[in-house]
Amino acid sequence: MHRTTLGDFELTIVSDGTYFLDGGAFFGVVPKSMWSKKVTPDEHNRLDAGLNSLLVRTGKKNVLIETGIGNKLSDKMVQIYTQPAKLLDNLHAAGVAPEEIDIVINTHLHFDHCGWNTVRNDAKVVPAFPRAKYYAPEGEWQYARHPSERDAISFISENYDPLVESGQMTLLRGGEEIVPGISVKTFPGHTAHMQAVIVSSRGRTACYISDLIPTSMHINLTWGMAFDLFPLQTIESRKQYYAQAIPQRWLTVFTHDDQTPWGYIEKDEKGKLSLEKLT
Ligand SMILES: [Zn+2]
Repeated sequence: MHRTTLGDFELTIVSDGTYFLDGGAFFGVVPKSMWSKKVTPDEHNRLDAGLNSLLVRTGKKNVLIETGIGNKLSDKMVQIYTQPAKLLDNLHAAGVAPEEIDIVINTHLHFDHCGWNTVRNDAKVVPAFPRAKYYAPEGEWQYARHPSERDAISFISENYDPLVESGQMTLLRGGEEIVPGISVKTFPGHTAHMQAVIVSSRGRTACYISDLIPTSMHINLTWGMAFDLFPLQTIESRKQYYAQAIPQRWLTVFTHDDQTPWGYIEKDEKGKLSLEKLT
């Protein structure tokens, strides 16, 4: 299990398992001859992508950032992506029951980021974390109601609409501090309103950067995913992120990296980016 301390906080990576993503979609315009040096696809050109959530124990609150794919996918979606559904087991292994989660934060509302927000209980959809206050970007939720033809498949309204309707989910504008030391910041690119989660305690900072930099293989400015709706903004947002995260030595958390869930991004004198893994 990946666990570390950050000031007074304890950080644990809890995974929902791995799912399939097409290698071409994962690396966008980067030729396969280049990305296949870093990772080997299967015979259908699929890669194992991680589904890393971050559990932050502040001492006062248990905060869960992102909730994986969940267990409500349609048969067709299961065929394409698989449905590992391991998050609750891995939370249990980390010593936390669903009732003990106080806060859930979603960076955006694609199905592979908010799936365990809710579960089906007979015909009803109920919160998977019954006592939690949920948070998600307001712009994401507005967009999710009328998505483009291109990414409509990425939204499953049962993951968030019941929570918004019941008042259990609060919608964020970006910039809010949710509990002391945990705040959100909008980084457009993957979507227009995706928010990274910044966690700070005693002068140290970690950032759950979500799909702005989905894995440690994507730190190069131009290695964006084909899924990104605004690829030029991905580059600008990464520049903005690196300008702060590299000199201040933020611990970056990668959602979809099944091997290296976190590390410190570094830049040498020539501007070449690399990752120092967290040991
Ligand atoms: Zn994603």
